[in-house]
Parts: sequence; C-alpha cells; structure tokens
Amino acid sequence: MIGVFATHQNSEAAKLVVAALRRSVCHDLVMNAVPASLADSSVSVSIKPDEVLGEQLWLWLNKQPRKLIVFGKLPSFFCSRLGLQTVEWPGYPEDWAYSKPAPAGGFSESAGSIRYRQKASVFGADRWERALERFDFSDEWNNLGYGAIRADGSIWSLEQPVQVPDECVLADLIIEDEIQFTYCGQFEVGPSTVLWFNRPVGPVDSFEWRLVERFLTDWKSESQPCCPVVSEVPWGHDSAITMRLDCDEDITSAGLLWSTYREMGVPFSLAIHTDNLNDMTHHAFLQEFVSSGGSLLSHTATHAPNWGGSYEAALVEGQKSYDSIRDVTGVAVRYGVSPFHQSPPYALKALCDVGYRGCIGGIIRNDPEFLLARGGELAGLPRGFIGHSQQTMLHGDCMLSDEDPLRIFKAAYDRAFEVRTLFGYLDHPFSTRYQYGWTDEAQRIKAHRHFVEHIRTRSANPLFLDEVQAMEFLRAKSAIQIVSDGTGYTCCNVKAPDGLAFGIEFKGNCQRLTNGTKLI
Ligand SMILES: [Zn+2]
Repeated sequence: MIGVFATHQNSEAAKLVVAALRRSVCHDLVMNAVPASLADSSVSVSIKPDEVLGEQLWLWLNKQPRKLIVFGKLPSFFCSRLGLQTVEWPGYPEDWAYSKPAPAGGFSESAGSIRYRQKASVFGADRWERALERFDFSDEWNNLGYGAIRADGSIWSLEQPVQVPDECVLADLIIEDEIQFTYCGQFEVGPSTVLWFNRPVGPVDSFEWRLVERFLTDWKSESQPCCPVVSEVPWGHDSAITMRLDCDEDITSAGLLWSTYREMGVPFSLAIHTDNLNDMTHHAFLQEFVSSGGSLLSHTATHAPNWGGSYEAALVEGQKSYDSIRDVTGVAVRYGVSPFHQSPPYALKALCDVGYRGCIGGIIRNDPEFLLARGGELAGLPRGFIGHSQQTMLHGDCMLSDEDPLRIFKAAYDRAFEVRTLFGYLDHPFSTRYQYGWTDEAQRIKAHRHFVEHIRTRSANPLFLDEVQAMEFLRAKSAIQIVSDGTGYTCCNVKAPDGLAFGIEFKGNCQRLTNGTKLI
C-alpha cells in the first residue's frame, strides 16, 4: 500500500499525484491518508511535508526498510539532516523558464533545462534531458510529449533553490550549461531510501515518471518494499502505438492516407468533427471506413474552443456528435478527442455524464492536469472514465528543415519505447483551406511511411492498435485490482480486451498478469 500524505493546502497537487500513482500501480494500492496511518504504509509519498510530518517521516524511515517519495519543498528538518544548501534563484524566470513559439520547420526551447546525471542510470534515466518549456508548433504543441516545468510558484513549478550534496543528485536545473540547483535527488536514510523531486506534482506529466515507477517496483528489491507496476504496453510486445486523424475540416480527403496505412497493415482511426457530416458527400466514405474495420472517435459537434466554454455547452457537444456519428454510421462512439487539445475539467465531467468512457487530449500550452505520463483514471472523475495524452502531431509544419525532417518524431517514439509508454500520434485530413504544412499528399504519405518504418526498425515486436482498442486496453487496465496482505500481492479483475494480455513489473521482472497472479 502506498500512502499519500499532504495537508489541505497541498490537496490539489495530492489529487493529481494520487491519480498518477494509480495509473501505474492500480487504484487500490494507493490511499490518500492521514499522518496517523503512516505506520500502515511501507511506501509513502508526501507533497510538501510540514515540519511536524517531516519529523514523523524521519522516524518512520529509520525504523525499518521503507521508501519515501517527496514532491516539492522538503521540511527544514530534512534539509539540515541531509546537508542541503540554499542557493540564489537564477535571475528572472522570463529569461530561462519560457520558450519562444516554434518557427516553421524548427522547434523552440527554454534556456533552462533539466539534465539527469549518470547516477540516475540505476533508474534507467542517465543522460535524460528536457527543456522546462518546449514548442514544435507555434506556442501550442510539444511533440516530445511532456508538460512545462514552471517557475511561477504554482504546483507545476520548480520550488526550492537548493543544492543537495553531490553524491545525492540525480538531476539538475541547467541554464546555459551551468548547474543552478537540484531538481531531483536520492537520499539514503537509515535502512530506507528517499526520492525527491523539486516540484509539488513531481514528474506526473512527463516520461520522467518512469523513474518513479522504477523506484517503486525494483529499487533495492532485496531489502526494501516494492510495489508492482502494470505495464502500459500489452504483454508479449515491446511497444504499443496508436494513430488517428482529427477530421476538423474534411473527412473524405483522408482516403489516400488511409490506403497507405492499409498497405502498411497499421490500424487507422478518425476523430469526427460532426459539422462535417452536414455535407453528405462524406457519408459513403465514412460508411466504407467503418465496414472495413476503421475506428471512430468524437471530435465534438462544432469544434468549439474549450468545448463551448461550460459544462452545459460540453454536454451538447458530446451528445450531438454522438448522435450524428450514430445516425450516419451506426457506431456508438465511446471516446472523445478534445478540439485544440483543450480539456477543461467541466468538459471531461460532461463527456462522462453523456456516457463517454474517456477522452484523448494533452498539450503543453493549456490544461496541464491533462498531460499524463500514463493513460488511465483521472483526478476528480469517476472510475471507468479514462484519459490519454497524445501530444505528438505529425504535421508538415513540424518537419525539420535543416536535417532529418522526422528527427523529433523519431525521438518522441524512441523515448516512448524506452519508458514503455503507449504512444499516440495524430495528423489531420487536408481541406480546401489548409494542408497543415504539408506540400502535398505525396510528401505527407512519404513522411508517414518513413515514420512507421522507423518504429518497425526500432522495435522488435511493436503492436499497432486503433484508438478504440488502445483506450479499451487502458480502461481495462484501470479496473485491475491488486491487494496486499503484507507479505505479497494478489491480482484480480484482470480482463484484457480480446487478443491482448497485461504484463506486470515487479522486482526487476515483467511477467504476464492473470487473475490470481501472486507477487512475493
Ligand atoms: Zn481538431
């Protein structure tokens, strides 16, 4: 059992962290708890523990082998015991924490970045580097998928300008190749280990979450408690991929790219902005697409920013698009894709209330709480409704103009492969008005072919899923139950969709997960 401890002032971050942990280890193994129940946890996570809780945690760590993760400010009790030194903030955040908008044919990054040291190799994280903020398209998209680390005092912000002893540093804040202060550290306390991120939400919105998973599931497995992590990649595969087109302005023009994907043997999905269905020329294409096994998602009725701006408007967007798609194709859509990737909480609640099972979105520009390292349940929403971040937009505007045009996309996939993330990417059908930066369909098809070839070269056994299969897999994963009896774990309610199976990581091994699997 993982206990999450946070005071009321930090409850917003705590909710996001609890949901993130549950997406990795399953719902039942994570409990938001009062400090009085600290002794019941073998693994604890604390967000900005105060001085009183800090002393309790210190005693808890020293009593027997345990694991503690701290997100955000460390109590001064810890700082003095662990030898942390306060340093200066590195000047104005405007100069180093923010990125300019991306130019066409290039990308843009903040001057500040996080760089992991060789010591982080024990968690598979050595030489990881990421900008605090980064754009590949305008000031909207980060095709590498992670959220922004702010310097603004919010829960998404760097928090404490401190330097931890050199031997305890896992990652630094770097500006112009100079170390400024520590972002991530690891401390041995008595028989226990502390993992610390200098941000109240930790890395919930980044591939760096993998470091947290590795700490939980296999760090010091001989002497410290470990927690199982359910893999986001179906068992038997080393990678999982899904792609879609968001049909903002046209549908039928998806035909040529669809043919290409059929030739490649890769599933293809369409998210339908249903105003397009007012033009009946799209109906026959869509019916053929569905009868050939293509999968459909809702992309709202009117593509309104922020789902129309209110819960009530979002209800209408969800219901109208559902009805239109069913009327034309007979398909009852289960999942929505956010227009402009704007996913405000009221829209997710409305989608849930209309009967959808989940939403796809996630973008560095807005709604940071929807940027999810792992797909699955969402903070503040009922179980059974899931979210999945898919921020890699394969657009002509984002092809690099001065080197391998697909370098960033390949890097995005390679990182997903490395950290076992279900990788999603998207494009849009051409319209008479807009071709999304592509010169023509031939150039676009060549780039898509090249990208799929890269995936098939990098991965020995990739699994391409359509969007509905991918979301159903994540939804079934979210329903898995794991109970701990103090000596080990027992898994139940393991119901993978047809043809798929789950894998579970524990103490350095990954095995097939079935009902009744026991982990000791
Ligand atoms: Zn759209």
